[in-house]
Amino acid sequence: MKRIVVLGGGESGVGAAILAKDKGFDVFLSDFGKIPARYSEQLAAEAIPFEDGKHTEELILNADEVIKSPGIPPTAPIMVKITQRGIPVISEIEFAGRYTDAKMVCITGSNGKTTTTLLTYHILKNAGINVGLAGNVGKSLALQVAREKHDVYVIELSSFQLENMYDFKANVAVMLNITPDHLDRYEYRMQNYINAKFRIIRNLTPEDAFIYWQDDPVITAQLRSIKTEAAMYPFGEHFEKNSEAYVDDNGQLVLNTDRISLTMPRSDLSLHGLHNLYNSMAAGLSACLLDIKKEDIRRALEDFDGVEHRLEYVDTVGGVRYINDSKATNVNSCWYALESMPRNVVLILGGKDKGNDYTEIEPLVKKKVKAIVCMGKDNTKLLDFFKDKVEAIYDTHSLQDAVDTCASVAQSGDTVLLSPCCASFDLFSSYEDRGRQFKDAVKKLNG
Ligand code: ADP
Repeated sequence: MKRIVVLGGGESGVGAAILAKDKGFDVFLSDFGKIPARYSEQLAAEAIPFEDGKHTEELILNADEVIKSPGIPPTAPIMVKITQRGIPVISEIEFAGRYTDAKMVCITGSNGKTTTTLLTYHILKNAGINVGLAGNVGKSLALQVAREKHDVYVIELSSFQLENMYDFKANVAVMLNITPDHLDRYEYRMQNYINAKFRIIRNLTPEDAFIYWQDDPVITAQLRSIKTEAAMYPFGEHFEKNSEAYVDDNGQLVLNTDRISLTMPRSDLSLHGLHNLYNSMAAGLSACLLDIKKEDIRRALEDFDGVEHRLEYVDTVGGVRYINDSKATNVNSCWYALESMPRNVVLILGGKDKGNDYTEIEPLVKKKVKAIVCMGKDNTKLLDFFKDKVEAIYDTHSLQDAVDTCASVAQSGDTVLLSPCCASFDLFSSYEDRGRQFKDAVKKLNG
């Protein structure tokens, strides 16, 4: 019997183990850290052998195939040994893809993945499609393939997931943008990261679609150097030769495919900001390609609620608006947040720096930001970079301190924006934890 070892006992690993067991493999799951109780209980209920807090080599290196969770870097000692032995390593999405004929809408990019994935899912779901949500959001694809069986899946794919995908095929592949992120995982080489992202178009045939942002210099350069047979659907703010989605001179959003075409006023989109125009275009084009009715697409683009921690309005206290954009964990997403803001922003930056270059936001900071409040264990890099570029900059090391500082600096009419450019792990357990603590602190300001 073929032996499958799953590394990582989170959502994707446990889902993969359950699917593998269902398909009759000899399965073992191993996690070097602690497996959360809800997952270890699930494994026990499914009678799947597992271990946590260690990797027992005798139980791992005898695998015929390894399914690796995206969070485990290829440089982890156990991974090095697995690679030395020549054991094939795949991702959970690759594995699950073997056992379903469902249509796959796969969304990647440096920023906007979750928003676009949830928006696409919202359109399809409300149009009555039997659709599943997978990848970085929702339940694992593997578990849904094993137990739910949808006709279409909308899948958010990070570069980490794409790294171990080989034969998996998308029907609609979306590439939102590529800007530096996670370079610490790619030997600080941008091309390695680009190559990982571009694995999304592997195996696309002429019947499949590639939707991408036409004005992204990295994407367009890469497209010149690779070959794909996919039908191409570029989108952008303004019409260019070949654009399939754009805004015309009358402010109408145009979505144009050979299956479905529609127009609607840009101002009717529920998500605001230029970045969200792009996200709406990508989701709208995907829906057109799945033959969703125009009315359904229009309505869903109008009534989507937005996503927590992404430019989320929190409250107005003393005339100051507070916005939670805790998910902005890289410099480019902060750029888009600032782009969509009025002037007089008090900006909270900081956390775990991933090799950031802040020059990208410097012009917008100079134009719109009146004060920066640094919030991190070590703010030296930010303080050095911005000290001569804003009127005031503050050094804080806790969320409470940061919010109190913002409240004392901001005046009525100003906006306090948490859009930190950095990961959260120095002071918080996750970006969600950071966002929630921020919202709680703001609510307390309101008494
Ligand atoms: P991801 O899942 O790729 O991290 P999210 O949808 O969670 O993306 O959005 C993360 C942050 O990136 C948001 O807070 C927003 O500020 C910014 N953002 C969203 N969409 C885009 C886009 N298309 N281009 C650039 N930045 C974006």
